[in-house]
Amino acid sequence: MLKISQSDLVELIRKTSCELPQDVLKTLQAAHRRETAKRAKFVLEQILRNLRMAEKIEQPICQDTGVIHTYVYHPKDLDLEKFRKLFLGAVKKATQKGYLRPNSVDSLTSANSNTNIGPGTGKFEFKTWNKPYVDIVIMLKGSGSENVSRQYKLPSASLQADRDLAGVERCILDALVHAQGRGCSPGFLGVCIGGDREKGYRVSKRQFLRKVQDKNKIKELAKLEDQILKKANQLNIGPMGLGGKTTLSGVKITAINRHPGSYFVTISYMCWAYRRQGARFDKDGKFMKWIY
Ligand code: SF4
Repeated sequence: MLKISQSDLVELIRKTSCELPQDVLKTLQAAHRRETAKRAKFVLEQILRNLRMAEKIEQPICQDTGVIHTYVYHPKDLDLEKFRKLFLGAVKKATQKGYLRPNSVDSLTSANSNTNIGPGTGKFEFKTWNKPYVDIVIMLKGSGSENVSRQYKLPSASLQADRDLAGVERCILDALVHAQGRGCSPGFLGVCIGGDREKGYRVSKRQFLRKVQDKNKIKELAKLEDQILKKANQLNIGPMGLGGKTTLSGVKITAINRHPGSYFVTISYMCWAYRRQGARFDKDGKFMKWIY
């Protein structure tokens, strides 16, 4: 078992909660420079100002620190159960320090555990690799953005959408129109074409691990991503839904195999508080570098 220290994991959580990764920050700064609508420019200015303050005083960039999604890429000898325990201990500590809001409540009584720990908490995806180091990537996803994520089944008579890329585009734009600034925009979309209902959400969320500037390797999907970005920013929803040219700042689409009888299009929404960061640790558990 690699000896990763709990304090390094707390630091990963702190950095993720209090700073945006460079690729996202640059995208928001570029949107601010480009935006011409007065109110939209003002909202983007406030978002950037808030980000500078949060980083300086080491406080969360948004009051909703969301649910932590954890992706671990590791050599064969990582003891997964020990890692889970270590990580959840770090979550508890980060909550005490105020880097995370206590966001875990009993679904029947609404009682808050105040620790972010409780039955069913902890979302982990583990992947074994042959490299001599461990990458731990986390993403904090708030409820506002989770609530406006949607899943469609094609064909859809109400959307006049068939089982093709034109149909997929209709689903994505429909999801964005329904989000209407409720998942605080400008937003980012992760889309999965295919799979089943459960895998659709899992894979669509994983698209947020791609850097915003990353180009899709599949030509048709790269074209669709560009097209959707362009159309979305003509909807005049704008930052926080107050109008303007910056509704969407990125869309990442992937396709996975599906049952021939099903055609799901799953759209995960991420708000401007697009908090993801990763840390690399060497074979002795020593911190090597930040990933984003
Ligand atoms: S949608 Fe995002 S920015 Fe808005 S309150 Fe939730 S976490 Fe914060």
